Amino acid sequence: MSTRAFFFVFLMFMNGVPLAQKKELVTEVQEIAASEMKAALLKQQMTMAGTVFSKASNNFDIHYLNCQWKVDPAVRYIQGSVLTGFTMVQRSNIVTLDLMDDLKVDSVTSAGVKLNFYRPFDNSIVVSLGSFLDPGQKGSFEIHYNGVPPASAPFSSFTNSSHAGVPVIWTLSEPYGSRDWWPCKNGLNDKADSIDISITTPDQYTSSANGLLVHETVQGGFRTTHWKHRYPIATYLVALAATNYTILNSSVKLGNVTMPIMEHAYPEKVAEMANAAALTARTLQLLHNSFTPYPFINERYGHTHWGFGGGMEHQTNSFMVNMSETLVVHEAAHQWFGDKITCGSWRDIWLNEGYAVFCVNYNVEKHYPENTLLNLYRSQVNNITSKPNGGVYVDDTTNTARIFDARLTYNKGGWVLQMLRWKLGDAVFFRATRNYLNDTALRYSYAKTTDLKKHFERESGMDLTDFFNDWVYGQGFPSYKLQWAAAGGAWVQTTLSQTTSDTSVDFFEMPVPIRFKNATRDTIIVLNHTRNAQMDFFKLGFIPDSAFIDPKIKLISANNTVVKADLFPNAGNAAVFPNPIGDQFSLLLKGMSEGELYISIYNTAGALVWRKRYGNFKGDELFVIPTTQLSPGNYWLKINKDAEAPIVLRVMK
Ligand SMILES: [Zn+2]
Repeated sequence: MSTRAFFFVFLMFMNGVPLAQKKELVTEVQEIAASEMKAALLKQQMTMAGTVFSKASNNFDIHYLNCQWKVDPAVRYIQGSVLTGFTMVQRSNIVTLDLMDDLKVDSVTSAGVKLNFYRPFDNSIVVSLGSFLDPGQKGSFEIHYNGVPPASAPFSSFTNSSHAGVPVIWTLSEPYGSRDWWPCKNGLNDKADSIDISITTPDQYTSSANGLLVHETVQGGFRTTHWKHRYPIATYLVALAATNYTILNSSVKLGNVTMPIMEHAYPEKVAEMANAAALTARTLQLLHNSFTPYPFINERYGHTHWGFGGGMEHQTNSFMVNMSETLVVHEAAHQWFGDKITCGSWRDIWLNEGYAVFCVNYNVEKHYPENTLLNLYRSQVNNITSKPNGGVYVDDTTNTARIFDARLTYNKGGWVLQMLRWKLGDAVFFRATRNYLNDTALRYSYAKTTDLKKHFERESGMDLTDFFNDWVYGQGFPSYKLQWAAAGGAWVQTTLSQTTSDTSVDFFEMPVPIRFKNATRDTIIVLNHTRNAQMDFFKLGFIPDSAFIDPKIKLISANNTVVKADLFPNAGNAAVFPNPIGDQFSLLLKGMSEGELYISIYNTAGALVWRKRYGNFKGDELFVIPTTQLSPGNYWLKINKDAEAPIVLRVMK
């Protein structure tokens, strides 16, 4: 899903806005985003603590749904019947589904025979199967119901409004709203393998739902449209909409397959939908070619205009407030990340939204100048670091505002993936993502954070526990402090430290890129940051005059500082290069007093292995010290100047 608050951040990529204008919009857009987000969050502050969102029993496995819905866009009311085909998992003679008590059940039937049912007044329905069924036995029942779906906060799941004076009705069930308008399993643990949907409306309206349009009949002033979808589908991705839609049919070539695109446009916005056809095709091709084939390639993709201020990735048919590039890419990405593989709990919602944000960035990377991408990155990292804490993994799933927190679930979730790509490299990142999408235990089913971690670990050969603990389960971000100095010749010496914004993480171990430049030369080195006050030497091949931390925005960080030192920090006035040392090393001492000097080398057991006295030290001097006699290992280099405190440096051979 994408709310208006979220996508305002990316308005600068709106389709049809010239590029030059897009860049200038960044500041303005940030302000709009901030105010929109506040308004949206205030509206969403209503939490649902203590509420149970699903009472459905797990003693049956749903494999088929046949939904017959009758709606009038002008009236907030639904009349329907839902046939549930299932396989028994545990021996029982009852099953329980979720259905709000606002909806009245007229009858429950099975093959024309009435079944007993019971409403416990906890927004569920208990259906008596008539006799005991054993595990593996199949059955079906049909619930006939009607009523006015409740207006739940913050997202009303069943809404009617109007556009250009014409009534429209639509559904938005994520995360907990399906039971507001149909009897279902309202949780994240059972996908129907297949669904048929029939929608009946007054005949001046056209309906939209999941999958392929099979046929349409008009009779007695009513139009009935039959849709079929033959892929597994999570409950919250089942949707309907109806108004005076204009249908636009086109197609997209995905590999060898020419797949239909079917769009439901508001008549007054047909041009907008039609103009986005090339964008939709290009987006599906990018994702199809970069990840795995479009997940519903035997059927179709499409968009449907609605009245909600954002987008929603209903399976094969995203509902859209407009056709902005960001929104089109975001909802298309969800067909892979969210629909094909659905988060296994709302704690793991970043698996859906993080990848959607990642794909939006990836689209910009592929189709826009680097500067546009860096501006987008900057706006996202600024948003993520606008508060010192907050984790990607959702701590409170009763709070819908927290589940859909734009800063944490969307932007930071996306940046966890950006940083995995940076840390592991493109080849490993894309292979691991494809393996995740192809995993037979996950595809067309559900996944949790540990499932994704497992694929990145398997493909990289690395233990990513610390990375996930820091960035997914932990909170906050690092602020880097770099001190650097030209260490003579073509070398620079760096000392990098970090402070963290939240106490849940004491150190973020990351590869940190640093750019060094002068008037004519420019290079980026990558420093593997594993501890504070970490000193490193790099041979650049030129003498830089300035340094920048993370110039191409690979990391979440903020409030970074760079200090150019004339002398060498953290080691008094001494610097060793290179380090690790070879058969000799250079020791540069600067700004010290003149006099008698001792240079000593100790092994880590504390035994002296080399010492030399310099009787006439000048205060600034470069020494070349031979080390052929030392075996590989760690050593302490100690510099004693008269009665002054000794300088001690760790060196490695
Ligand atoms: Zn989304």
